[in-house]
Amino acid sequence: MIGLLENTLRARYPEVVGSLSDGIQCDDGWLDILNALFSEITKHCKGLGIPIPRARQVKEKTGSLRCYLSSKDDFIAGLIQMSEEISGKTCEVCGEPGLMDVENNVVQVRCLRHGARTEAERERSTTIWRLESNRPASIERRVPGMTEEGAHLWILDLLNEVADDYCVKHATGFRVNAVRQGDGLQFEARGADQRLDGMMAMTSAFWKRRLL
Ligand SMILES: [Zn+2]
Repeated sequence: MIGLLENTLRARYPEVVGSLSDGIQCDDGWLDILNALFSEITKHCKGLGIPIPRARQVKEKTGSLRCYLSSKDDFIAGLIQMSEEISGKTCEVCGEPGLMDVENNVVQVRCLRHGARTEAERERSTTIWRLESNRPASIERRVPGMTEEGAHLWILDLLNEVADDYCVKHATGFRVNAVRQGDGLQFEARGADQRLDGMMAMTSAFWKRRLL
């Protein structure tokens, strides 16, 4: 199963993963995430005429995706941060939405079909781990949870959470006024810096891949 992910990504993004000596150390369910990530990195670098960074390591670590590159600017850092956050909500086996949970001291993201426990089972367990963030979310949203077409998308809730966390620490006045579907997701935003632009680009590219 590992072969599909490895072969696909090596064939499509030789500049990024061609010299990766340890291979890609995660399961096939994250193919769409890595596909979107490497595609956006390549597009960004070609657009600016800067060298495409090489991946030093791509792996699963404590449940989510880690991708270490030879170099990165703020936009690429935003792409990487968002890819890591998306992997934390994506079954590593099949790519469907999943839950991060601890089983036998191993943190992993799985859908119900691939072994995730239901919410009720999680509540009953004696696990002292709580993986949810302990910072209460801002009352006012920075990213709407619904597209202009009226679709509630979990990925918008995730982007809102990640962007809000970043903005609280960096005090930017970022707001998304509207999200439209079509060729990924189009964000009508103000106050975004390069990092937030990277987060939005990754969100859009992943959503587009999911629908292919
Ligand atoms: Zn699954």
